[in-house]
Amino acid sequence: MDANGSSSRLCPRREVPMKTIGVLGGMSWESSLEWYRLANERVRDALGGHHSARVILDSLDFAEIEQLQARGDWSAAGSLLAERARGLERAGADLIVLCTNTMHLVADRIEDAIGIPFLHIADTTAAAVRQAGIRRVGLLGTAFTMEQPFYRERLETHAIEVLVPSSEQRARVHAVIYDELVHGVIRQESRAYYREVIDELAARGAEGVILGCTEIELLISADDSPVPVFPTTALHVDAALAAAGATPGPRSR
Ligand code: GLU
Repeated sequence: MDANGSSSRLCPRREVPMKTIGVLGGMSWESSLEWYRLANERVRDALGGHHSARVILDSLDFAEIEQLQARGDWSAAGSLLAERARGLERAGADLIVLCTNTMHLVADRIEDAIGIPFLHIADTTAAAVRQAGIRRVGLLGTAFTMEQPFYRERLETHAIEVLVPSSEQRARVHAVIYDELVHGVIRQESRAYYREVIDELAARGAEGVILGCTEIELLISADDSPVPVFPTTALHVDAALAAAGATPGPRSR
């Protein structure tokens, strides 16, 4: 402890303060909690002392989003998220992350509404896939993410080929997300099912599997897969912290 009462030896002064990350969360809060925990753990590990992540979190009511998804009202969802992103910018955020893969369907609306960088979750994931030397991946996520073009096409811009599960498998993968994972329910039976789906994607030629829903990494880890997995929440955290100058760069995995 020095004369000013600060433990400067344990908590080194930083020349350049880290930027503030604006987080659009609550979709669901189970995965936002994971995002927040990982972000703070990684800043602590990188900077030591009493450092933690600089974050402004706007946590939405997921029921509102889920109803707009079910109605297919992406225009209203886009307006809502664009407005909330503007709010984060007004509150002092230097960059924005959207903690859900599915709602990146309206990423353009958000990007158009703000004057600060937006870190697209498919780009941060694609960077890790390419860094691993992988060109063909399996994609797990909500039906929206697996079936609509927005996510696959974004990965394809990074020269990544995407395989999705069969339609029957997609329905069950989707149901596990909305009926279990967003409620914090982790079932061994669902893990076993996801493992089967992952095995089949690998047998079809996937060299890696993207856990393309921010809750899936609460259920599935590298141990559940014969090929590398790409956890989108953790990768998004790493990229956001690197962009905020809080860590030297995305961790090698
Ligand atoms: N968090 C999920 C995702 O990453 C699903 C919930 C949502 O629809 O936002 O896609």
